[in-house]
Amino acid sequence: MQAISVLGSTGSIGVSTLDVVGRHPERYRVYALTAHSRVDELAAQCLRFDPQVAVVGTAEAAARLQQKLRAQGLRTEVAYGPQALCDVAGAAGCDMVMAAIVGAAGLASTLAAARAGKKILLANKEALVMSGQLLIDTVAEHKATLLPIDSEHNAIFQCLPHDFRRSLDDGGIAKILLTASGGPFLKRAVETLDSVTPDEAVAHPKWVMGRKISVDSATMMNKGLEVIEAHWLFGAPADRIEVMIHPQSVIHSMVSYIDGSVLAQLGNPDMRTPIANAMAYPERIASGVAQLDLAQIGQLFFERPDLARFPCLKLAYDALHAGGSSAAILNAANEVAVEAFLNQEIGFRMIDQVIARVMDKLPHGPVTDIDALIEQDKIARSVAQSCLTL
Ligand code: NAD
Ligand code: MG
Repeated sequence: MQAISVLGSTGSIGVSTLDVVGRHPERYRVYALTAHSRVDELAAQCLRFDPQVAVVGTAEAAARLQQKLRAQGLRTEVAYGPQALCDVAGAAGCDMVMAAIVGAAGLASTLAAARAGKKILLANKEALVMSGQLLIDTVAEHKATLLPIDSEHNAIFQCLPHDFRRSLDDGGIAKILLTASGGPFLKRAVETLDSVTPDEAVAHPKWVMGRKISVDSATMMNKGLEVIEAHWLFGAPADRIEVMIHPQSVIHSMVSYIDGSVLAQLGNPDMRTPIANAMAYPERIASGVAQLDLAQIGQLFFERPDLARFPCLKLAYDALHAGGSSAAILNAANEVAVEAFLNQEIGFRMIDQVIARVMDKLPHGPVTDIDALIEQDKIARSVAQSCLTL
């Protein structure tokens, strides 16, 4: 029996994780659930999974949750705030941590799980994009395990040699082929993109996800962040990570070997597959996802991405080439710009412009420790705010 802490349990990934957990009560129990503000949903999850601890964002939300749980006769301990997230991520009572908080808000708890030597199921790609080598080193130093939940990286993980040790050359690997759906605006006339609404941008053709990652998919910054994520997870240089548009999202990514073989992982687009894969690794468990019907799919389509249509993808490659804190700056600027777009403060085409301006303005330096990183993130956010109105 393994105990799991689900950080961000009310989000899209959190809900899918609990669906898989609920299918295997003999294997998994829940140690902690966390949510930022959705107290009602969190209370309902507590009622179903009876965790030891539940964490919310504020004292006020904690008081409301506490009242709801006690009214139901639950004894779940209620805590709040960023330190409580780190506490449940590193607690002795849990074996694995689903890192599914969105954005930089998930960095500290992901690092806490690494320092405590946990099995980390990493959905929160922004944490790795920001911290890069720092998180990889922390994982190694404390004998933690980092398993990718992002469907592409989980696919790559499944296509790699069993004894893969973060070296493409040792594994006989020529390159990694990261597939991308292209999002909702793959075929839309570029000159009309400025008038798209947040609701149009989050209407992803293949995946149902949180609002931030959905906008990232529309700009293809999501794929840019995933290129950086793949770099750190698999020790792959930028020029050996190729993005391939595959609008059907049937192949979730591929690994191309020097002997000419290309291994792919296929499946219906449902995050419960990579979640179940990482939770049970190296075993396999049922996830609730239907088997793929290849005859019904018939054909698979691919095309190369157009960087003029998707400037965010180029910005992410630029950040990866520049190294140091560039990726953290890119991520912070993107989070600010996406939120401003979702709040209808800026147009869709402004997102990449804001990020480009912040990257131009801010010198990047080495990422030495978490405090320096958080400081860089803060500065980049404030510069991004000032760029919104230009
Ligand atoms: P979501 O918006 O649906 O959920 C986010 C969760 O984080 C919620 O539970 C929310 O309460 C919590 N949260 C938000 N802000 C917080 C804060 N400041 N402090 C503490 N908790 C906070 O997002 P999602 O789609 O589930 O994505 C979560 C992460 O997984 C993201 O990093 C995303 O890039 C990654 N991811 C998601 C998918 C997907 O299919 N949804 C696929 C791959 C990767
Ligand atoms: Mg992905």
